[in-house]
Parts: sequence; structure tokens; C-alpha cells
Amino acid sequence: MTFPPIREELRGIEPYGAPQLDVPVALNTNENPYGPSAACADDVAAAVREATTTLNRYPDREHVALRTALAAYLSRDTVPTRGFEIGVEQVWAANGSNEVMLQLLQAFGGPGRRALSFAPTYSMYPEYARDTSTDWVQGHRAEDFSLDLDRARETVERERPSVVLLPSPNNPTGTALPPEAVGMLCEAAGDGLVVVDEAYTEFRREGTPSALELLPEHRNLVVTRTMSKAFALAGGRVGYLAADPAICDAIRVVRLPYHLSAVTQAVALAALRHAPELLGRVDDLRRERDACVGWLREQGLTVADSDANFVLFGTFADRHALWQDLVDQGVLIRETGPDGWLRVSIGTPEEMVAFRDALLTSL
Ligand code: PMP
Repeated sequence: MTFPPIREELRGIEPYGAPQLDVPVALNTNENPYGPSAACADDVAAAVREATTTLNRYPDREHVALRTALAAYLSRDTVPTRGFEIGVEQVWAANGSNEVMLQLLQAFGGPGRRALSFAPTYSMYPEYARDTSTDWVQGHRAEDFSLDLDRARETVERERPSVVLLPSPNNPTGTALPPEAVGMLCEAAGDGLVVVDEAYTEFRREGTPSALELLPEHRNLVVTRTMSKAFALAGGRVGYLAADPAICDAIRVVRLPYHLSAVTQAVALAALRHAPELLGRVDDLRRERDACVGWLREQGLTVADSDANFVLFGTFADRHALWQDLVDQGVLIRETGPDGWLRVSIGTPEEMVAFRDALLTSL
């Protein structure tokens, strides 16, 4: 046997992840460019300090305090007018929404089962499928990256996936799902789960409701969220979901005991107390995004409409050469999406000037 005795389907595969290059302007992983205020950082540091007094003990396996705070946050800030609350038993958190979704596939995927999404879509989804030996089925988006709802329903009804993964807004295209899509696909999925990945939901335009509002109507609906993007806590590694309590109970069977460290729980709890401040730059970032879309179009480029904190643009005969040219000028963006397209995350106004200057030099 060839050493190391790795699973055959993993042999020779590069680890997932954007290049982590030391450049002045990093616009490649859709982070929030604004760090926490001194007051928030102090509060987080105090919470960590407090947590260190009991670091000889394992943390709360069920992370009840954090789930309670997340449930209150969702009920207060996201579905306050819908006449229902999200309870602690409907919320589950893990180390980033990546881990939440991996746990979902551990519990609901597996050999002989299928996971499905519509390309172009978030490139980690097939990795969760591969790592849980779940069959991966890929449907397709329309030319303008929207979801053709009739075709999507037919695909779901034909393939009968155990898990449908629907990012809204989608990464890497920035496209939000229309409000009618989620309910329709929950019905088409029958007993399968429909996971609406709302990693970028805070950046969406007015008038596109969150899928959270549909939770009371669809038991097979799972909404995942993250503190990594709008919430400006990518380094804290906290993602979570809201769903039927039976779905959380199923995940509790597959999760590693104590998967969320005491430090992570403390950081997330303290950060949630500063939610309005951490989310305070979302409007600025939306404006900067819209300006970026307009500017790229003025340069004669093709640009996808975006409801997120990034913009997909193209098309380039040699996108790698352009990407490298930008890196050489100190600006790191992402080679992702269909051939010929590039994605830029929205940064501070100064970072966006650096991006535009570098692109003008390279075009
Ligand atoms: N979903 C989507 C669509 C994403 O783009 C990302 C991060 N790039 C994630 C989930 C995972 O983010 P995290 O694990 O930091 O929550």
C-alpha cells in the first residue's frame, strides 16, 4: 500500500482554503474589515479571563448559555414581528457554520444518501459530502446565477436528496433566493432537509426575508448562520443553526463531546452583547458593495448582482494572470466561481481604492 494509507478518494487532493498570503490588502475571504471597538475587545478579554479560572474543567457540552443567547438574538433581531420566538432547543452552535453543516451531513448524510446543491455554489459543500461518504449531486443555476425554480423543484423531486444545501445569498455569486423558493423546495424535498445557508444574510437587500420566518411552517427547514461575516468574528469560529428541536437532537448524537471550547463560548457570549456595534458597519459595507458593482460595470466588465459583502466579476481569458498581477500590487482577491470570474470581498473605502487602482493598472 502507498504511504500514508489515506482513503483512495483523498489521495493527492490539496487541502481546501484560499491562499493565506501576507499582503497589505486582503479581500479574499469575505471577512468584515472592521475590527471590534476597544470596549467590545475589553469585554471579550474579560470574558476569556473569567473562563480561564475554570480551564481545568471541560466546558458545557450543550453550550446552553450560548444557545440561549443566540435564540434570544434571533428572536429579538430577526423574527420579532412574526409572532413566534426561537427557543434554545431549536438552536445549535459549532466552530463556524462549516462545522455545523459537516455535523448536519454526519447526521443526515452518509453512504447511500445524497446531498444536493445548485452550481455555482459554495465550494465546501462537496467536501462535506465526500468526508461523510454522502453521494454528491449537483444541479445548476441559470446563466444569470439565479435559481430556475421549476427546474430546481424537478431536480429535487427526481434526486430525493437527504440534504439540499441552498446558500442565500449564494457564494460566490452573491445571489439571494427569492422568498417563494424556500417553502417550495421544502415541500419538494419531502423527508429530506433543506438547509438555507444564511452566512451573508445581514447584507441582503430590503424585501428579501430571512428563511427563519418559515421555520414554523416547515419541519425539514434548517437555517444556518455565522458570526464570521457581518458579525466581524471570523477569528472566534462560531456558527449556528435554527431548526426543529429533533434536528438539534440528531446532531447531538454525532458531535464530538465538548466540541465548543470554554474560550469560544465565552468569546461568543461577550460578542453577542455587542451585536449592534459589531453589525454597525453593515450599511457602510452595502453602500461600498453597490459602488463597487457600479464602478466595475463602468469599466465594461460583467458583474453579478450581489446581496452579499463580495462581488463576482469577469470575464477574463486568463483570470489567474490578473489575480497574480493584483497580488503583485499587494491586493489579494479570490479565484473562484465559473472559469474566467474573480471575486472581491468588500473592504474599507481605502482598501477598495487600492483594489480599483490595482485593477485599473492591470486591465
Ligand atoms: N457558508 C458560506 C456560503 C460561506 O461562504 C462560508 C465561509 N466562506 C461559510 C458558510 C462558513 O463560514 P464559517 O465556518 O466561518 O461560519
